[in-house]
Amino acid sequence: MTLINRLRASSVSRIMLLVTVLVTLLPILVLSFHLYNSAWENGWREIEEKHQLIAQNLAMPLSTYVNDHKGMLAIMAETINMLGLRDRKIQPLIDKTLTSMRGFRSLILLDMKGKILSSASIGAQYTKAFNDVMANEKCYLRVRGTGEWALSRVKPHPVTGQPTLFMGHAVRNNKGNIIGVLLGELRIDYIEKIRKQVKFGKKGHSAIVDNMGHVLAHPNKSWMAEIKDLTSWPIVQKMMAGETGVTSFYSPFMKGNMVAGYASVPGIGWGIMVPQPESEVAEQVNTLMRQHIIWGITGLVIAIVLALVFSHWVTGPLNKLAKAGRELMREDLDGNLPPIREDSPKEINQLATVLRALISSLQVSRNEIRGLNDSLTQRVDEATSKLREANERLEIAAQSDYLTDIANRRYFEDCLQQALSRRSGDIAHFCVILIDIDHFKQINDTYGHAAGDAVLNQVARILEREMRSGDLVARYGGDEFVAYMRCPHEIGRQRAEEIHSAIENSAVVWEGKTIQITASLGLYCQALSVNEAIKDVLQHADQAMYAAKKQGRNRVIDISQENIS
Ligand code: GH3
Ligand code: MG
Repeated sequence: MTLINRLRASSVSRIMLLVTVLVTLLPILVLSFHLYNSAWENGWREIEEKHQLIAQNLAMPLSTYVNDHKGMLAIMAETINMLGLRDRKIQPLIDKTLTSMRGFRSLILLDMKGKILSSASIGAQYTKAFNDVMANEKCYLRVRGTGEWALSRVKPHPVTGQPTLFMGHAVRNNKGNIIGVLLGELRIDYIEKIRKQVKFGKKGHSAIVDNMGHVLAHPNKSWMAEIKDLTSWPIVQKMMAGETGVTSFYSPFMKGNMVAGYASVPGIGWGIMVPQPESEVAEQVNTLMRQHIIWGITGLVIAIVLALVFSHWVTGPLNKLAKAGRELMREDLDGNLPPIREDSPKEINQLATVLRALISSLQVSRNEIRGLNDSLTQRVDEATSKLREANERLEIAAQSDYLTDIANRRYFEDCLQQALSRRSGDIAHFCVILIDIDHFKQINDTYGHAAGDAVLNQVARILEREMRSGDLVARYGGDEFVAYMRCPHEIGRQRAEEIHSAIENSAVVWEGKTIQITASLGLYCQALSVNEAIKDVLQHADQAMYAAKKQGRNRVIDISQENIS
């Protein structure tokens, strides 16, 4: 059986459940697939947009920070030009500027020979040390050489060894000639402060590198301290090239794949990257998927419950009808279908109505059949009983003599046959007497055939009377009778004599005339053990009777003496 055939043969509830699960599950799975893909896409897009935006936003304050300080150096340079390089007012100006512009750690005015003319520093003790090294500071040399504004790479401070940045600006006289250089040391902790403000997700952060690809601000303090060179990182290379965008890379610091937006600070060449572990993006997608799966399962459970309720609504009354139908069949249609709920489906209510009508008509037919059956059985019983009675009558008729109503010869011989074959019991002998009416022909001739019949009946009645339990008497044919008795020889002889006397002493009165009757009796007794054939037994009795006739009739002749002791 194919799967579809097996499904077709299944119960409605099961099919409904299966279909519901399929119908519910299919859109959920398709939706899940699309949702999963779009969640990833959205996640990536969001990161691209967010990370890039953050990187670009971070570039702005950094640019402002640098430009503000650059601007301040320019204003100072102009003021110094107006005052004159060695004016006494310059030192208070530098001090005031250091106080107001907190991004500067120190400010130094150098002449063209590298001699410090004025200086101010947050750590004043550095001032002396500066005298020896500032004349060789590359930033100073570059500004003095080119006359342009300059910003150094991040590098160890020549005195303290701490990472630091120098910004230089030329001081020109009214003719435009360079007369000195203003050198400012920028505070990296300010930049780090700005960087720190960018935090998102669990491990999303930002990092800033200088124009040489060295760490300027980074969550890893030791990288900052050692001014870690990140130029080998492709993302850093992209930033150095002035690009803006999003990329993914392996971060040895985070020990994992990162997704990062990056941008470069225009005009300065610093790079800003905003990385976040890829796993966090996956987590966002997974959270979305988890919620979706929970809703999907909830929907599926609701659909299954609804399917169960619906299938119960449909199959409940059907099962009830089927069960009641089976019981009705078992009870031979006694009873009726139970009522089904009124809120059952319309078609099932119609089916129940039709079934009820069908059962009612079946019950009517059954009652009619029952009535017919009963009368048929009654008639068959009556006919059978009549037949039995007729059979019994027939049997009796077949066994009886039509005239005298005692047993006939055939029945006698059957009984004798059975009696001779039954050899059990106390009495070991039997006797057979053959009785023939003397000159019966003459009676017929004298008084008529009817008188002869009356004589035959008279003798039959005498023989019946003389018989004991277990004996059998029959008309042997014509005027001959035969008797069988289970008794010893002596008793047999006595009884033969009694019969003889009874016949002799009886007379038939026929039409006012008395008809005297006598009979000749032949007696033959034998031991049951001899096992003589019935034919021989009857022949012996006949011989005895013939002998009685021969010896003058009206007597008993016993020929048993010679045979039994
Ligand atoms: P015996 O003394 O030698 O016996 O002489 P019998 O006249 O009796 O001679 P038999 O036995 O030959 O005669 C029998 C007669 O019985 C002959 C027959 O017509 C007559 N018979 C046979 N059956 C019936 C019967 O049913 N009714 C009458 N009335 N007579 C019968
Ligand atoms: Mg006779």
